[in-house]
Amino acid sequence: MKPIYLDYAATTPLDKKVIDSMTPFLEQEGGFGNPSSLHSFGQRAMAAIDGARIMLAKTIAANHREIIFTSGATEANNLIIRGILKSFFKNKKNSSADKQNCSITPRIIVSEIEHPSVLETVKILEKEGAIEAVYLPVDRFGVVDTAALERSLNDRTILVSVMWVNNETGAVQPIEKISKIIELFKKNEGKNYGGNYPLFHTDAVQAFNCFDLNVIKSGVDLMTLSSHKVYGPKGAGASYIKNGVEILIEPIITGGDQEYGLRSGTENVPAIVGFASAAHIAHNTYKTEFERLKKMSERFFKKIKKEFPEVEINGSDSGRSPHIINLYFPGHENLGLVMDMAGIAASSGSACSQRYEKPSHVLRAMSLDASRIKNSIRFSFGRFTEAKDIDDAIGRIIMSLNK
Ligand SMILES: *Cc1c(COP(=O)(O)O)cnc(C)c1O
Repeated sequence: MKPIYLDYAATTPLDKKVIDSMTPFLEQEGGFGNPSSLHSFGQRAMAAIDGARIMLAKTIAANHREIIFTSGATEANNLIIRGILKSFFKNKKNSSADKQNCSITPRIIVSEIEHPSVLETVKILEKEGAIEAVYLPVDRFGVVDTAALERSLNDRTILVSVMWVNNETGAVQPIEKISKIIELFKKNEGKNYGGNYPLFHTDAVQAFNCFDLNVIKSGVDLMTLSSHKVYGPKGAGASYIKNGVEILIEPIITGGDQEYGLRSGTENVPAIVGFASAAHIAHNTYKTEFERLKKMSERFFKKIKKEFPEVEINGSDSGRSPHIINLYFPGHENLGLVMDMAGIAASSGSACSQRYEKPSHVLRAMSLDASRIKNSIRFSFGRFTEAKDIDDAIGRIIMSLNK
């Protein structure tokens, strides 16, 4: 039985066009050189990175100077959170006016449903005593409480980080609204540390395939992207850092000063080239992909509901990215295993926590009880999911649950 892949939120296969764009930079005849070298081999590789930077920047309405390539979204999130904090403490040490205030701890506000690369990083910094962390609750649909954000912003807040689309439920977060709240706070009361803070960051990894990630319209200062969630290769990602904000970030990886000094280390040229071409395709197709996957997701849920009237969606039916659907099957545990046996690759919990069998922090934040969480599973669809896959998957799911 050929397994059906319904785990696009965990990772996506490479698009053939992406492979083609990368090949020259993997071959001896192509641009294998070190981009830092001044000879022609190096310059060819450097030109490829420059081109990729421009191409990626365009997809989010940014300038190429605002893109920092990293090894992935985990590193990009770490660079932003740790880099901002590092810069904050460095500047504070240098400024005599603030010397008396050395005991003041900066505040970082994040949602309870962030990806572990944000959430765990913030928790570690909190434990170290470097920051005071505030975790914004979500409603039963998995959408962040913006009133709680308004209450949490204070004159010590340096960063707010809320993801665009949640990777376990697909819940779309009110990014523009959050931007406006922070903007208003800055205008009315926030002269935080010279008026530079609070900064607004969004992890937009799961939003790239179905939404327009326009950094101007969304009003974000910082954004995180990952290549392997948009049909690009693993091991590449990026931080968007708004012009002017880069002076508030210190690198966490130091050395040869690549990536405008914010991320040292020889660039992964083929992966970066592949990432940019993958992003370009994703951006050109997000509208049609949204509609196509919406139909697919509706068909999937409707047909399952017909056989299992007790099935429920964890999260909202409307405010969701259509590529993710998280379902509760009352009375059915170990769904990951059940699906695997039935030849369906889906995900119980987020990919990162599956091995440890921790109950999902996202579903818990939505106030779902332990037994409901145990009886839930995430399906995610993508570019290569066809109607036939959905129908076959439904058949297999119904059969295995009826056993
Ligand atoms: C996958 C994912 C990440 C991590 O991306 P990597 O490139 O694998 O490090 C971060 N945030 C979200 C929302 C994700 O889905």
